[in-house]
Amino acid sequence: MTAFDDVLSANLEYASQFGGSGLTGRAGRGLAVVTCMDSRIDPLGLLGLKPGDAKILRNAGARVTDDVLRTLVLAVYLLGVERVLIMPHTDCGMAKVTDSQVHDLTFGKGVDTRSLDFQTVPDQGAALRHDLTRVRTSPFLPQGMPVGGAIYDVLTGRLVRVDL
Ligand code: ZN
Repeated sequence: MTAFDDVLSANLEYASQFGGSGLTGRAGRGLAVVTCMDSRIDPLGLLGLKPGDAKILRNAGARVTDDVLRTLVLAVYLLGVERVLIMPHTDCGMAKVTDSQVHDLTFGKGVDTRSLDFQTVPDQGAALRHDLTRVRTSPFLPQGMPVGGAIYDVLTGRLVRVDL
């Protein structure tokens, strides 16, 4: 008995009907999506995609961190990505707290996280514009590559264009 029995047994079922062995690691539709780790988001489903179509990069708040940029560079030059969609969402936990509130919360549990930059999002629109600019102006990515921003509404399932 492990903490993962449920997912291990589900995987046996999944593998018994697996049909994805013909896919490669390239993004079949040339798309990368940067989105949040929020468990309500089904990036493939909400964008009409299937496995093999796109690179999905997820973190808290859908932020363009150094590691997201590193991954995008690899995705573009090695894995067929030709366009990037940055997709934060409504009701995001990262937009409801500040870094200092998170530090206080963890400190209350005996952990000092002040050396971590959580990149919380006090202004979601400003954060998205900042992150779009960061990708668009990266010297490591092709100039003129389509880079768009939209916010996913977790209540309606709709994608709201911000900068597409
Ligand atoms: Zn979120």
